[in-house]
Amino acid sequence: MDKKQSYNALQSNSFERKYLNSFSNDGCPLFSERLEEHLVAVSRGESPATGRFCGFCFTPTGPDTKVCSHCQNNFLSDKKTVEIVPSLVTEILREQRKIEARFVNGFAYLGVLLAVLGGLAVVLGIPYLRDHLIPATIVYALILLVGVRILAGILGGYFGDNIGYNRARKKTVQSWEELKVTIG
Ligand SMILES: [Zn+2]
Repeated sequence: MDKKQSYNALQSNSFERKYLNSFSNDGCPLFSERLEEHLVAVSRGESPATGRFCGFCFTPTGPDTKVCSHCQNNFLSDKKTVEIVPSLVTEILREQRKIEARFVNGFAYLGVLLAVLGGLAVVLGIPYLRDHLIPATIVYALILLVGVRILAGILGGYFGDNIGYNRARKKTVQSWEELKVTIG
């Protein structure tokens, strides 16, 4: 949907409806890139916590902006802007990152384990290596060196990342549903 269409939707439908039009994927407007950047900067002490934020999705917005660029919330007729992002929202982001990291690390460790066991299987499976300690050690070291990097990278960086993101996002959507009740 382009900006014009969402603006039209905004004019004719209820607030909930408009918002669903903009976020049909999982129905949760958290976290726009700008909101996430803001929260990270605040947590590092690089940016003040206060400012002007969309009252619905908490995306930072300019002093004269009337419609949120992320969720198309109209600040004049729908949710007014707020001066600070609720700490609960920061908490939700932290939880999302924690779940993601858990999956990325878990899968990366699995990759390390596979490289360790796979390397052992190779060394023990080749009769020559089984009988010659030094070549076996060299081959095992090489398998570990390359295998750990590749397997941990693929399992953690790809599978862990994807599965972790989906799990974490599900939790974020759930928290958002609860939060929506409190912010109305
Ligand atoms: Zn918004």
